[in-house]
Amino acid sequence: MAILVFVESAEGKIKKTSIEAVAYAHALGGPVTAIALGAVDKAELEALGKYGAQKVLHAADEKLNQGVIQAYASVLEKALQDEGADILVLANSSLGTPVAARVATKIGASLASNVVDLPQTSGGFVVKRSIYTGKAFAWVELKNQKKVIGLRKNAAEIKEVGSAAQVTPYAVTLSDADFATHITSSEKATGEVLLPEANIVVSGGRGMKGPEHWGILEELAKTLHAATGCSKPVSDMGWRPHHEHVGQTGVKVAPQLYIAIGISGAIQHLAGVNSSKYIVVINKDPEAPFFKAADYGIVGDAFEIIPKLTEAIKAA
Ligand code: FAD
Repeated sequence: MAILVFVESAEGKIKKTSIEAVAYAHALGGPVTAIALGAVDKAELEALGKYGAQKVLHAADEKLNQGVIQAYASVLEKALQDEGADILVLANSSLGTPVAARVATKIGASLASNVVDLPQTSGGFVVKRSIYTGKAFAWVELKNQKKVIGLRKNAAEIKEVGSAAQVTPYAVTLSDADFATHITSSEKATGEVLLPEANIVVSGGRGMKGPEHWGILEELAKTLHAATGCSKPVSDMGWRPHHEHVGQTGVKVAPQLYIAIGISGAIQHLAGVNSSKYIVVINKDPEAPFFKAADYGIVGDAFEIIPKLTEAIKAA
């Protein structure tokens, strides 16, 4: 049961969600080949061996520096064939999810997204999926011999199980059809830490009263090396950029720590954060619904609490 893992990178570094995908594939039990596309640091690729990749392929063609879905799917289809792999594992991300669907269609595979656990293999290959924005689980049998598994963030524990792997260059032949869509330009989102990747998120709601008060929230985020997020009305009103909007209709996050400040905890907001490991809520209303979802809660005025919290963290 050879397994191919598609690993994503940003600015030369492998994403944590992709290391989780390698760890998951290792736990599945087959020989694991990881493949990276575009510019990635060699040391980062070699390190994948520590997490369970026996072999690392690198398709470094500069045309692959941008995540063009058709081209990525073509390379993965070919790599699956070359490696004799029946299973493709990747992270469910804005790139991984559409790539997974396209590869599954090309190779006639059973596809499961948002997978949160290893499969049960007695009596069929059955995976556990997170559904309804994390409110329920479904167990789905992948019946085809070829399988594509999209992993939800934090679904696999990263453990060191081996030593550095050798990186093999992987030559690709790409056609114009692979670039039927083309990214003409891209812009980096604001903030030092990207929201979907962040381990800690500090998020503000309407309780922050206005954009002029965001400085204290940003200072707290900087102190924690966290990304900043916000509720939908906050981005709708233009207090914060739209890409910071967290929730059912915005970004779904699954950090280790989500700090919600002046956010009531409407169901549509919770839908985007309920996979967070720990949730801390700061709200002046003790009846705010968010407290029901919180691991820790602070009842009080955000404008008094945030500066004190930042100072305490800096002093620690
Ligand atoms: P409010 O509900 O106004 O809450 C503000 C909170 O701040 C209150 O709890 C208040 O007690 C607290 N507060 C006030 N002053 C202070 C202070 N000084 N210190 C501390 N706390 C204070 N919302 C999302 O966020 N994401 C989504 O993706 C999303 N999708 C939606 C999709 C649909 C189809 C619909 C209908 C709605 C959606 N919403 C979404 C909107 C959602 O229903 C809520 O209206 C929204 O989340 C409320 O934002 P809020 O908590 O910032 O504001």
